[in-house]
Amino acid sequence: MIPVTKPFLPPREEYNKYLNDIWERQWLTNHGPLVNELESKLKEHLNVSSALFLSNGTIAIQIAIKALELTGEIITTPFSYVATTSTIVWENCKPVFVDIDPLTFNIDPAKIEAAITEKTTAIMATHVFGNACDIDAIAAIAKKHGLKVIYDAAHGFGTLYNGKSVFEYGDISTCSFHATKIFHTVEGGAVFTTQPQLLEKMLLLRNFGHTSPVTFDGIGINAKNSEFHAAMGLCCMNHMDEIFKNRKTQWQHYQAALRESNKVQLLTVTKGCDFNCAYFPVVFESEAVLQKVLAALNLQYVQPRRYFFPSLNTVNYVDNRSSPHSESIAQRVLCLPLYHNLRKEDQDMILKVIMKNL
Ligand SMILES: *Cc1c(COP(=O)(O)O)cnc(C)c1O
Repeated sequence: MIPVTKPFLPPREEYNKYLNDIWERQWLTNHGPLVNELESKLKEHLNVSSALFLSNGTIAIQIAIKALELTGEIITTPFSYVATTSTIVWENCKPVFVDIDPLTFNIDPAKIEAAITEKTTAIMATHVFGNACDIDAIAAIAKKHGLKVIYDAAHGFGTLYNGKSVFEYGDISTCSFHATKIFHTVEGGAVFTTQPQLLEKMLLLRNFGHTSPVTFDGIGINAKNSEFHAAMGLCCMNHMDEIFKNRKTQWQHYQAALRESNKVQLLTVTKGCDFNCAYFPVVFESEAVLQKVLAALNLQYVQPRRYFFPSLNTVNYVDNRSSPHSESIAQRVLCLPLYHNLRKEDQDMILKVIMKNL
């Protein structure tokens, strides 16, 4: 079986070494030495100002919303994983959808201003598939209207924008380290900010608002992560160069084969973005063609995924605001298998099946 992605597992002995240390220390969770080490390695590796390791990428978005004390309306993208929208609603805010750019698949900054009302407090955009948003344009709009910016950068590990990690942009960026993501800690996530006072606030939010074992400053939640998860992250970190290298080679192989076809649309990388090759989306001419290709691939035990379907403006707990580009792309897009040890022969077989069914 060839799934859309396979989690990278480090050599067992590398993880065992960390397990031995954990058994010796008997410190399992609550900001242990491995969590601290992971946070400093993340800062170093990504060259970012801060990194707070959390239990997953969904709570990371919730903490970002809480830290910025957002209320009212949040302008967001309809083309993302459902967590981008569900967290907004979970935090008692209203998602207001702005359609995407049909080439980059990210929120279209040219359409944001028309959606701003007196209730708008923030923009939450996703760097879909690891491709950076038009960050400069979003920053200019946010500044002009006094809005906060959160980036759901769940796919953004390793992506640069104007030479810096995408995590350095917006008031807060969030990431997911779920097993399906390019860098993972089994389950996990993080928040990133360049603003020290926001970092302080999120530290408290992550741990019940504890300022000492017996004192609290405001409401918090349990968003901590464990030594076991941090250990997996530390192991994976040592293999990221190789993971990125393979990913790029595989990505370029798909790209070279499909680029010439006038029957599929491929991702256009945003200007200024150094792309991490996290996903390989292919947009077909129609949903019928997608279904045909998907069925043919499934027959060969290949399981691409419909990332992202449905368009989030159509889920049943939001006010649907028509987003024609997002709805159209969501109906026609498949992400092809892409993972550290995917073989070239398998890619060639996948490409052959696609070509035959276009
Ligand atoms: C994976 C993902 C999330 C959620 O992260 P979890 O770690 O699974 O909670 C949020 N947004 C996007 C765009 C994602 O792909």
